[in-house]
Amino acid sequence: MKLIADLHTHTIASTHAYATVTEMVFEASRLGLFALAITDHARSMPGAPGPFYFESLGMLPQYMEGVRLLRGIEANICDYDGNIDVEPTLQNYLDWVVASMHTITIKGEATVEKCTNAYLKLAENPNVNVIAHSGSEYFKYDYDLVIPKLAQNGKLVEINDSAFRYSKDYMGNCVTIAKLCKKYGARICVNTDAHFTNTLGKGYKTLEMLREIDFPESLVVNASVDNLKAYFDENGISY
Ligand SMILES: [Zn+2]
Ligand SMILES: [Zn+2]
Repeated sequence: MKLIADLHTHTIASTHAYATVTEMVFEASRLGLFALAITDHARSMPGAPGPFYFESLGMLPQYMEGVRLLRGIEANICDYDGNIDVEPTLQNYLDWVVASMHTITIKGEATVEKCTNAYLKLAENPNVNVIAHSGSEYFKYDYDLVIPKLAQNGKLVEINDSAFRYSKDYMGNCVTIAKLCKKYGARICVNTDAHFTNTLGKGYKTLEMLREIDFPESLVVNASVDNLKAYFDENGISY
């Protein structure tokens, strides 16, 4: 299995990432990727760009260097009711929304019950494509309750390769999540969350883990162009 797209990446617009859109696209092209989602952090993250940055993403071409460039955002899950800091009016400008929990952008202490509620609510949000890096031990949720719901609603469960590089305590949870995605038929995407060009498109640790658990390629949306195009077709994303 190999990756044909990276669907969660950052640029200097996030202000704690270090490459431009152009540099990220050239790297994606060099790797032969079919698509790249640029998903800079939404407004609650310190240093994030304002709404006008995201509204103006339409100025970027749909294809650069042969790569389908998805105009995206990484929304912050702001509370345990699953609300995100991206208004529906802004979502109209975007091709791609990944949503994630970060300790600095969510109100209140986490419990399994509260996180389960947040993810179940998020599963109902028609504008969210990806549930990002949900393997956190702090934001642990009831996987057996949430994952079937995500599968049913066509949400993509991200296995975030940076978890294997930077947050080793996530690894066990990521394996559990992947096994349950296989069991319930939830589609996943393997993303790098690259904050620089060097890690873009290289989800090697995750791919190795998926091989070990015999994870079906048909459920990995960014493991083949056909898989990703099928997802785009279902969700009205042009290519
Ligand atoms: Zn970041
Ligand atoms: Zn990110």
